[in-house]
Amino acid sequence: MTKIITIAIPKGGVGKTTTAVNLAASFAALEKRVLLIDTDPFGACSMSLGFTPEKTKGGLYEVFNFMHSMAQVIHRTELPFLDFVPTNITSPQAEERMMRIAENRTLLKNILRTIAPHYDYVVIDTPPFLRGLTTNALTCADSVLIPIKSGHFSLEGIDKLLKYFDWIREAANKTLQIEGILQTMYEPHTKVAEITDRELLIRFRKYLIKTTIPKNTHLAEASFYGKPAVLFNAASKGTLAYLELARELIDRHTAALPQTSITTQVQSA
Ligand code: ATP
Ligand code: MG
Repeated sequence: MTKIITIAIPKGGVGKTTTAVNLAASFAALEKRVLLIDTDPFGACSMSLGFTPEKTKGGLYEVFNFMHSMAQVIHRTELPFLDFVPTNITSPQAEERMMRIAENRTLLKNILRTIAPHYDYVVIDTPPFLRGLTTNALTCADSVLIPIKSGHFSLEGIDKLLKYFDWIREAANKTLQIEGILQTMYEPHTKVAEITDRELLIRFRKYLIKTTIPKNTHLAEASFYGKPAVLFNAASKGTLAYLELARELIDRHTAALPQTSITTQVQSA
């Protein structure tokens, strides 16, 4: 069954795009079929995967404007199990238009209905604000993953965010789950990490993802060279951490699947 995971928090520079690209690539490296969708008009996922504008054959903008179908804007990547849909916004006018169209929060959900079943995972990167495109990405998601830059967050911010997800649940997506809070750019053995860990454990233990993503220059370098970390430096700490995150989530999702009973197995054999 397909699992749609949206990466969201209305804060810039906390590792949303790095997480979306490298979690998607790690799922793909573990031979899960993955579609990564960039909903951020800034287009950082494209850059991180080496898609320059001339290598791009349209994206969500064209789909939202009925110029292309979703199938036409799916790009194959260097990883055989990873496909990608960019936003492809090329002017401020296009961005303005995209924002207006995205006020219809069920657009992406409708578009994904026939495409998503072809994948094990759909991973969606979002811009650092909540309305419009992010609301679309939350309306179609099974769960939301919240990256927190270790030591640079406010607990009140998380409280507010969780209330916003409650509102989405009531207004648009009754089954939206919190996948968890993921600490990124984590620097163990520092005072700030110690304080963050303590506060997160006290207030948000049930949401905390076990894996943490260390601060690791290879992750930043990989996106600069237009490659997911797993293809840039497979042995780096950053790469291994995202692989561990992918395994943690796969294990969790596999455990949550309804098990086929022995009787059913015998009957169908
Ligand atoms: P925005 O909201 O602006 O889209 P974002 O939340 O998507 O930002 P990223 O672009 O993923 O954040 O990361 C911000 C910067 O931090 C980038 O330069 C990225 O390369 C770097 N970065 C992200 N994660 C790590 C990490 N674990 N270690 C080192 N650098 C990182
Ligand atoms: Mg980003």
